[in-house]
Amino acid sequence: MAKLYFRYGAMNSGKSTALLQAAFNYEERGHRVLLAKPSLDTKGDAAIVSRLGVTRDADFLLGPDDDAVRVFAEHRRRVVQETGEDVSCLLVDEAQFLHGEQVDDLLRIALLEGIPVLAYGIRTDFQTVAFPGSRRLLEVAHSLEELKTICRCGRKAIFNGRRFGDTFVFDGDQVAIDGTTVTYESLCGVCYLQESGGRLSSTPTVRPTSEGSHA
Ligand SMILES: [Zn+2]
Repeated sequence: MAKLYFRYGAMNSGKSTALLQAAFNYEERGHRVLLAKPSLDTKGDAAIVSRLGVTRDADFLLGPDDDAVRVFAEHRRRVVQETGEDVSCLLVDEAQFLHGEQVDDLLRIALLEGIPVLAYGIRTDFQTVAFPGSRRLLEVAHSLEELKTICRCGRKAIFNGRRFGDTFVFDGDQVAIDGTTVTYESLCGVCYLQESGGRLSSTPTVRPTSEGSHA
């Protein structure tokens, strides 16, 4: 049975590098793969960009309204027509930007079409809240694998701090693509809390005071 894999990590944990390496490994053994990414990510248009310098275009983009099963089937047919060989694997970059329904489609591709799907993405946003695609992947993927990176203090980074210039910000839209004004820094929990002044979610926390416990 083919499986849906979710390989997640903080920013700069080498997700695109790992994806391109996985594609290379398949192709080195003579297999065909398809690479996809959500069109919401405009960082490199169709390009899947590794920070190590390797870049490759996605075979197709998934728009917000696209049925991933249908779009995958179209491109699978094209590969079979062009090469006479079937696709061995679907690799999806920036999977955090998929809708939940599109993640369900990825699961259907694995289960019903028998094609393994490897999805790579960021687990949580700059407010430590799961992206919709990542939340659904955490719920339904057969296999979860964390790609690790290191905070400036040397601990494992698990969160993504958003910065305007030198200043960390903790309010704003969930999606602000890395660019000239907005940058991200992967942080461990301790450093995140230091920068956020103790905040961990988008909702201001009012701690319920349980009866009988007085500070
Ligand atoms: Zn740290």
